[in-house]
Amino acid sequence: MTPLIAKLAYGALVVGWFIIRYPYARRARRTPVASSRRGFRENLLLSVSLTGLGLLPILYLATGMPRFADYPFHPAVGTLGVLVAVAALVMFRLSHKALGRNWSISLDVRDRHTLVTDGIYRWVRHPMYTAFWLWALAQALLLPNAIAGPAGLVGFGILFFGRVGSEERMMLDAFGDQYRAYMARTRRVIPLVY
Ligand code: SAH
Repeated sequence: MTPLIAKLAYGALVVGWFIIRYPYARRARRTPVASSRRGFRENLLLSVSLTGLGLLPILYLATGMPRFADYPFHPAVGTLGVLVAVAALVMFRLSHKALGRNWSISLDVRDRHTLVTDGIYRWVRHPMYTAFWLWALAQALLLPNAIAGPAGLVGFGILFFGRVGSEERMMLDAFGDQYRAYMARTRRVIPLVY
């Protein structure tokens, strides 16, 4: 494991994520929305997350900046990063597959929205956010830079904690007792833990 391989692995994570997401993003444009909680706050949270998980690490990969924040690379940490990146992609694929046409980049309830509680959603309520946490962790392990590495954990962390409560309130408004019962038997992102 070398710093170059670790950087290539991060690039492969971004490309892999894009390939998994693309067909769902296309379909989302054609699927009508019944009600939405998008707004300034949601757009701000999305921008912060995009900056931490995408813009800062890509700037680092392309230019090596910010150089003052570089620290020595440890091959074992890089190897762990590759394993976490693979786990992130697996979780992305499983969560997109289970959510299907209900997926949205923001907080929307679609026409004929169905509550998904099977597939990977049997284990946690927010498996796609589990995938993003794994991405952020992989980024911190793969990029030996004290700004570009942890930026994903900070950026996605702000989106996650700023959004997950509103998302669950939205799902409760849309699905009532069905979602309440689902909440009672599942955790948010890590089975049995949180
Ligand atoms: N928080 C989920 C989904 C992220 S995509 C996860 O991490 O896996 C965001 C959209 O998913 C929201 O607009 C919401 O309408 C929808 N959503 C969230 N949980 C859902 C579920 N269990 N079934 C169907 N749609 C869901």
